[in-house]
Amino acid sequence: MTPSVNTEGLSLEALADAADRANRLQRVTERLAGALTPQQVLDAILTEGLRAAEARAGAIGLVTEDGQAIELLAQSGYRGPVFEEYGHFPLDADLPMSHVARTGEPLFLESRAERNELFPSLEGKGEDGNAIAVLPLALDGRLLGVIALSFGENMVFSEERRQMKMTLAHQAAQALERSRLYAAEQAARQRLAFVAEASELLSSSLDYEQTLKQVARLAVPRLADWCAIDMVGEDGSIKRLAVAHQDPDKVQWAYELQERYPPDPDDPHGVAEVIRSGQPEFFPELPEELLEELIGDDEDLRRIVDELGLRATICVPLSARGRTLGALTLIAAETHAGFDQADFDLSLEVARRAGIAVDNSRLFQEAEKGANAARALAHVADGVVLLDRAGFVRHWNSAASLMMGVSEEEALGRRVEAVVPAWDSLSSHIRLVRPGEELARPVTVPLMVQGHELWVSASGVDFGEGTVYALRDVTDEHAVEKTRSDFVATASHELRTPLAAIYGAVRTIRREDLELAETDEATFLEIIEAESLRLAQIVDQILVAGQIDADAVDFELETCDPVELAEGVAESAALHLPHGISLHVDKEGARPILCDVNKLRQVLVNLVDNAIKYSPDGGDVEIKLDSANGECLIEVADEGLGIPSSERERIFEKFYRLDPQQTRGVGGSGLGLYICRELVERMNGRLDVESEPGEGSRFTVRLPVSA
Ligand code: ADP
Repeated sequence: MTPSVNTEGLSLEALADAADRANRLQRVTERLAGALTPQQVLDAILTEGLRAAEARAGAIGLVTEDGQAIELLAQSGYRGPVFEEYGHFPLDADLPMSHVARTGEPLFLESRAERNELFPSLEGKGEDGNAIAVLPLALDGRLLGVIALSFGENMVFSEERRQMKMTLAHQAAQALERSRLYAAEQAARQRLAFVAEASELLSSSLDYEQTLKQVARLAVPRLADWCAIDMVGEDGSIKRLAVAHQDPDKVQWAYELQERYPPDPDDPHGVAEVIRSGQPEFFPELPEELLEELIGDDEDLRRIVDELGLRATICVPLSARGRTLGALTLIAAETHAGFDQADFDLSLEVARRAGIAVDNSRLFQEAEKGANAARALAHVADGVVLLDRAGFVRHWNSAASLMMGVSEEEALGRRVEAVVPAWDSLSSHIRLVRPGEELARPVTVPLMVQGHELWVSASGVDFGEGTVYALRDVTDEHAVEKTRSDFVATASHELRTPLAAIYGAVRTIRREDLELAETDEATFLEIIEAESLRLAQIVDQILVAGQIDADAVDFELETCDPVELAEGVAESAALHLPHGISLHVDKEGARPILCDVNKLRQVLVNLVDNAIKYSPDGGDVEIKLDSANGECLIEVADEGLGIPSSERERIFEKFYRLDPQQTRGVGGSGLGLYICRELVERMNGRLDVESEPGEGSRFTVRLPVSA
């Protein structure tokens, strides 16, 4: 509503007055239009506004949020302690401003007498001769506050004057509302900006300690005067991760304070309580009792708290997946009047995001650890199999894949019995230990895998959430072990047999009661000689095998005549040829060779001995010399037992015998062929076998011919 001015019938002076008022009102309007903050609005009203209204003093009060009182925000021109007396008064007080706030109607009191009549309690108060106008600051029927204007004299409020003041009040209300909206929008914008920046920080790095420190710094001074972040340690203790304040000295001081007054996990308020309960704590205004409770009798602390000037606090939990990881605290002190619901909501939001960030980063670290472990396990030579509680395969490394012939993809997520049907019989032998109990002791057990028997050394650890097994394929070691123990059996038998014969012969010769014929005595002496020789041979073989293993055999390579050698071997064999065996040498294709004669003799003696030994039903034994492609071939062929094809390579292994139980009554150490092949190879030659079971065997030594 603009005042309607009827210029007709007015004096020039009155016209000038009106123009002047209009001018002043115009100036207020301009100032108010430019006012952005509530403070600027108040300033404009209390300077230009008062001038326009020709008032001497003025005061602005706003209705409090609960609608129960009026709070004086600013005044100008009053003398004396107005704020102390009227700073805050209830809506139902018997005062002009309360009255206007209650009725929503303006009040124009033209004299002091009129005032006293309406508000008898004010009798004797205030200054002389003042008219007052109290106007509601209302917008769309909503009362924001009240403005009081005091004039230095009694005054008649003409309709025109009233309209002018009402206009002023209306404009003031609009400007106030605008500035409020502006402030709210600014705050919202700041909050949004803060949440955006904080989120960006939190997602920028997995080093959550660093990012949380930055978030704390970001909050100060925009959101609060202080920001602190505390984390729960592994042992449940509370550790301060960050404190931020604009003044670095104060940060230092806060840390010192923390040391002097470490947080008690049983504190009924603050960080400890928030972490314990997982519930946020919000004090828009700090209750005096709470501070008193905190301070107790500690005078030092009282001074500190006074100096801090705490006004409001927000403490919100940082949590994720139902676990409280820490707490974020905001404190309003010197520059922030307090916190409102929006601040609280914002803190909850930031804490929520921080909690997720901390959780993510910890999960990532765990996952990385796990991934490192998994990467490492992939290279471990032992098979590593991890089963969950229900027996499903959760980890299956490449060694396990190789050992069991089942790929990782095929194994993962399946029940282990479905992957390895014989698993049960394996795991029944393993005594599971718990982590930290004792070292898992491996047991060596057979495991049938895809029709083959593996020997595995296996151990297992039960770690609560599942079981991890370590498996090593010891099939080869087991085989060696087996042949070794077979050897002990055969060797002791082999040694005992000639010993028994020698012992028997000696005892017989020495018998006093028995007169032996000379020929008998000669026979016994022959037995003693032959058996001693056999004994020496076995012991020799054991010694030579040991030397070969230790790489301690010396070779003297020289040109030698294989014919001479073969005939020599055949001659000594012929001395005690068993019945039914014939032996001859075919020397047609012979050529001189490069070898160590004694070693080659040893080889031939052994091959010929075997040929005779493994022909229990008799037959021909032939030593055949030949040459081809720069090599000299020495073949030893028989018509004896022969060797199954599956065993043809294994007979060259140390201690390996086809018939360790000696069912055919043929003894041996299992070392002969091992020694032969090793010796021949060290003389740059080869030793191979061709054979058919039941039809005999042909062993061929190939050696380079001498140049
Ligand atoms: P051993 O002392 O048992 O004879 P060797 O190393 O000389 O040990 O031979 C290993 C195994 O090879 C023998 O146990 C035997 O089963 C087989 N073998 C060796 N030579 C012959 C052969 N000429 N005929 C059949 N089998 C043989």
